[in-house]
Amino acid sequence: IFASVELAPRDPILGLNEQFKADTRSTKVNLGVGVYYDDAGHIPLLKAVRQAEARLFEQAAPRNYLPIDGIPGYNTGARTLLLGAGSPLIAEHRSLTVQTLGGTGALKIGADFLKRILPQAQVAISNPSWDNHQALFSAAGFPIVHYDYYDAATHGLNFDGMLASLRALPAGTVVVLHACCHNPTGVDPTLDQWQEIARTLQAGQLVPFLDIAYQGFGAGIEEDAAVVRLFADLGMTMFISSSFSKSFSLYGERVGALTLVTGGDEESARVLSQLKRVIRTNYSNPPTHGGAMVSTVLNTPELYAQWSEELAGMRDRIRTMRHQLVEKIQAQGVDQDFSFVKAQRGMFSFSGLTKAQVDRLREEFGIYAVGSGRICVAALNSGNIDYVAQAVAQVIKN
Ligand code: PMP
Repeated sequence: IFASVELAPRDPILGLNEQFKADTRSTKVNLGVGVYYDDAGHIPLLKAVRQAEARLFEQAAPRNYLPIDGIPGYNTGARTLLLGAGSPLIAEHRSLTVQTLGGTGALKIGADFLKRILPQAQVAISNPSWDNHQALFSAAGFPIVHYDYYDAATHGLNFDGMLASLRALPAGTVVVLHACCHNPTGVDPTLDQWQEIARTLQAGQLVPFLDIAYQGFGAGIEEDAAVVRLFADLGMTMFISSSFSKSFSLYGERVGALTLVTGGDEESARVLSQLKRVIRTNYSNPPTHGGAMVSTVLNTPELYAQWSEELAGMRDRIRTMRHQLVEKIQAQGVDQDFSFVKAQRGMFSFSGLTKAQVDRLREEFGIYAVGSGRICVAALNSGNIDYVAQAVAQVIKN
């Protein structure tokens, strides 16, 4: 039965990691990853998480199956982060949340559910986007189209192009939007632009699917939820996939959530019952440990405060790296303007480096970036930033 199975193409980013591992140069730097590293080059284990884990260890609770939709406190915690503590959508049961296996799991459950309720729809994704968006929605059976997003000439948003492509979409199209810290570009619309984007979706009867995998890495936990709340304030029903992988530095625990905003209490009950069927036939119920840790942090005021402070530390460090990178490249006598890197948000930057320059960085300097020029700013640190700035300057100058 396996004789005709073809070898699938290698995942470009995971392939890059393998190449990086095999590189024996001591100066090598991996900017291809999608992971936050601290200034010492380590993936942090947050103090808030450690304390939550210690409490759970003390409790030594049995590991029964969780409910199909996950831990109730986790779900209310995740929903509150998105909609805000005082949101009428929570009080009026016009929203519901299920615990999922990372943000990817939320997208997958959302996509499978959408296929059941809108089987004829197409899905629109930004150009460019996180590669898995296209893969996930097309695996769920949807045709994929792209809307304009990035403007290579300005290293910013092609706002007019974006609106024009959104306006051209047929009613019922599902539109996947990065609610903050766009991956891979680092370019986000302003809040005024988001107002217009939301109104365009509403006028065109398009279905918003907001993906928020980096809440807290832009301007702050509350600030980064502004886009979700803006859509909610317009009374739109929508899908929101969220992830704690980065914000809690819990990549391998698979902690995410799918939140739906519905038309009302009774609709929420019907929708939840169907979502549970989708989950049941995918993996039955989510795992306990990561969810229990996140739930403990979100629902314990002193741990929440600790987490919020640690997340602010990660956000600030990335911002510092952005500023230093721009200044250090400039100090090497490079004419090309890199200041746009400072305005980008989140872990990533579309650096504007060409494929040929990325190749040279890897071959001559052992600096690994994605072929598109995407670099992970969160992998820069005080030990490697001078080396990276010098190398970038060299590949640009000659
Ligand atoms: N959406 C976007 C835009 C992402 O960048 C990522 C992670 N790379 C995810 C979703 C998925 O996150 P998770 O690792 O929690 O599955």
